[in-house]
Amino acid sequence: MKILVLNAGSSSLKYQLFNMEAGTVLAKGTCERIGAGGTITHKKSGDEPFFEEIDLPTHAVALERVLELLDSPEHGVISDIGDIDAVGHRVAHGGEKCRESTKITESVIKYLESIVPINPLHGPPAIAGIKACTEQIPGTPQVAVFDTSFYSDIEDFRYIYPIPYEFYEKDGIRRYGFHGTSHRYVSRVLADRLGRPLEELRIITCHLGNGSSITAVENGKAIDTSMGFTPQEGIIMGTRSGSIDPTVVTYLMKLKGYTPEQMEDILNKKSGLLGVSGISNDCRNLTEAAEKGDKRAGLALNIMTNGIKRYIGAYTAEMNGLDALVFTAGIGENQYNIRREVCSNMSWLGIEIDEDKNENFKRGVPFDISAEGAKVRTWIIPTDEEYMIALDTKRLAF
Ligand code: AMP
Repeated sequence: MKILVLNAGSSSLKYQLFNMEAGTVLAKGTCERIGAGGTITHKKSGDEPFFEEIDLPTHAVALERVLELLDSPEHGVISDIGDIDAVGHRVAHGGEKCRESTKITESVIKYLESIVPINPLHGPPAIAGIKACTEQIPGTPQVAVFDTSFYSDIEDFRYIYPIPYEFYEKDGIRRYGFHGTSHRYVSRVLADRLGRPLEELRIITCHLGNGSSITAVENGKAIDTSMGFTPQEGIIMGTRSGSIDPTVVTYLMKLKGYTPEQMEDILNKKSGLLGVSGISNDCRNLTEAAEKGDKRAGLALNIMTNGIKRYIGAYTAEMNGLDALVFTAGIGENQYNIRREVCSNMSWLGIEIDEDKNENFKRGVPFDISAEGAKVRTWIIPTDEEYMIALDTKRLAF
C-alpha cells in the first residue's frame, strides 16, 4: 500500500510517499516559494536530491508537478499515479468539531472552510491541497490528520481562558494546542521502548524546534499543553514570544501606534530567541555565541531552558508525578546543552540524566539518556509526524 502524505504551508508543500508494508519512504520533497516563484527539491530514496526552479503560482500547480515527479521515469518511484492508494493531509487546526483524524468528505471540507477565521495562515493552504487532490487524483481516499485533535480530551478548566465566557461560546476562543501529531507519535514510541502500556504512563513530551510546545500525556491522553488558541502561547520560540503579559501588547500598540498586523508581526516574527538575542533564531548560532561570551545569546537560551523547566514542574504537579520525559524536534533531538540545562537541578523530581549519554547520544534513533537508577526515564525520540499521518491514513481511508 502506498500512501502520500502532504503538509501544505502558506507558501510550501512538503510531501512523502510511504510504502506501508515495508514502513519505508519511497520519495519525499518540498515545494517552496509557492505564489512567489517556485522551487522543488525532490528526493527518491537512495538517489541524490533533484532540484528545480519552476513557476508554482498555486498549491494545485505544485501538486501537479509533484505527481509528475513521482511517476516520472527519471525521478519517479511509481509507474502510475493510480498506484497511490490514499492521501493523508496534515491539517493544523481541526477546531472544536474535528476531534480525531478523519476521512475527508465534502462536509469536512466545508467545516474546515468555516474555521479559517481562527486558522487564517494554515487553513487555506491545507484546503487548497485537499481540493487539488480531489481534482487531480479523483476517487483516491483522503484523510485529514489534525495537530489539534490529540487535545480533544483536555478538560475545560485547562482550555477555557479566564475572559468572558461568551468569547468561548460565540467566537471559539480557547486553548486548542498544536504539534499534537508529534507529541502523540513520540509518546507511542516511548511506551514501546519502555515496554510498558501507554495507558499506564505519565509523560511530558517536549517538542523543541523553531516552534516549540510541551505536552502532558497521562495514560495515553494529552491532558494539558503549552500552546493555546494559536501556536503563539507557551515557551519562547525561534521568532515567537510565547506567553507574555497580554497588557504588554495593548500598551505597546497604544504607545507606538502599531496596528494589529504590525503587533502580530512583532510577536510572531521578531520576538523569541531572535528578538532577545538580536542575533539569530537558530539555537546552534546562539549556543556558539553564548559560548563566546555573548550575554544576550545566553539570556535567550536561559529564558528557554527556564521556561521548559516551569512547564515540567507544572505538568508533573498536574499528573501527580512523572514516569518519563521526552525531547524531540530540531532542538530537542540535537542540542545537548539545552537538554542538560533543562534537566539540571531536577533530581528532587526524579529527573537525572547521564551527562555522557546526553552528549554522545546516537542521532536519529530513540535514545535513553537517563542516569542509572533515575526515577524518571528521559529519552530523545526523533519525531516523525509524516509517518504518524500515514498510519492514521491507512487506518481510516478504506
Ligand atoms: P525544527 O523546527 O524542528 O526544524 O528545529 C529547528 C531548531 O533546531 C533550530 O533552532 C536549530 O538550531 C535546532 N537544531 C540544532 N541542531 C540541529 C540539527 N542538527 N538539525 C536541525 N536543527 C537543529
